[in-house]
Amino acid sequence: MDTQLYDTVIVGGGPAGLNGALYLGRSRRRVLLIDSGDARNMAAGVMHNVLTNDGVDIADFRARSRAQLGAYDVTFRDDEVVSAHGEDDHVVVTTKESGTFRARTLLYAAGVRSVLPPVPGIADLWGKSVFECPYCHAWEVRERPFAVYGGTVPSECLASTLTVWSDDITYLPGRRELPRDERDLLAAAGVPVRAGGVAGLEPHPDGVRVAFEDGGGAQYGALFLHLDLEPRTEPLRPWIDTPDLESVQTDDRGRTSVPRLYVAGDLGRNMQQAAMAAASGGLAAMAVNADLIREDRPGSLPAPPPPAAPR
Ligand SMILES: Cc1cc2nc3c(=O)[nH]c(=O)nc-3n(C[C@H](O)[C@H](O)[C@H](O)COP(=O)(O)OP(=O)(O)OC[C@H]3O[C@@H](n4cnc5c(N)ncnc54)[C@H](O)[C@@H]3O)c2cc1C
Repeated sequence: MDTQLYDTVIVGGGPAGLNGALYLGRSRRRVLLIDSGDARNMAAGVMHNVLTNDGVDIADFRARSRAQLGAYDVTFRDDEVVSAHGEDDHVVVTTKESGTFRARTLLYAAGVRSVLPPVPGIADLWGKSVFECPYCHAWEVRERPFAVYGGTVPSECLASTLTVWSDDITYLPGRRELPRDERDLLAAAGVPVRAGGVAGLEPHPDGVRVAFEDGGGAQYGALFLHLDLEPRTEPLRPWIDTPDLESVQTDDRGRTSVPRLYVAGDLGRNMQQAAMAAASGGLAAMAVNADLIREDRPGSLPAPPPPAAPR
């Protein structure tokens, strides 16, 4: 067990955790950042919509951020947190390999997992020619034909949004019968529907080839879809009784209803984009810093606003 008492342990070294560490490091806080190195955007290799870093290599972005944090009292551990819980006036965080750590606060920024639908071949193309976010990926494949797969999670609004980047979009509902409202939205967007189960996806020199269960097939520049997302909250399970941090988050600064626990990034109520994740990490770090000042110098700051009802 590390006997130091950190001001904050940050779980997650993506944009949220790294920016939280930057704010806290610059606030003269002693920070430990633990990261298991398997963020969900790694499949894409690069990141867009990040000012001065558009198209940046993700590993390089992380390495440069860590190097800059070297100026502050921020320690890194490449490890996986397996459990975290509160004890009196601190939190206890246990990792797979480097032991147990104590801190006055925990900033939890472990992100979410993308749950791909059970379509053969999709995992190999994820982040390469199969995407979820038009703002992150559509520019690179603009003006090519797109497929939008709505076979598992309805994606009609995604199809309508994509009309900005291509006027040749086909909606694939799989074996699902399209409800009226979904059909109406697609019709208004001018997006035709190709019914029938999807047998699998294969790489194609121009993007992706979709094989249909009825024997047909078609090539597209890219396939877009909405996904189910799983919050990566397993280590908190003994401490909080719900994996749904959205309902635990009480304000826009990442405070939660659990004392000493803060949340940032793709978890909680945040828009799931790198710049937004980074911003929420900064906000949460400011909340952590203010709450530590409140604890150390009672009465020196007004109380934070009362908890908001879950959205
Ligand atoms: C394929 C793909 C491409 C994307 N492209 C873009 C893009 O171009 N532009 C954009 O703005 N957004 C993009 N996004 C979204 C963006 O990646 C996320 O919004 C952003 O990374 C969220 O940052 P975060 O810090 O919350 O989480 P993450 O970046 O996911 O980082 C979380 C970190 O926590 C670590 N972690 C998780 N559990 C534990 C644990 N138990 N112990 C220790 N560490 C743990 C993980 O290893 C990971 O490094 C993309 C998403 C995907 C899936």
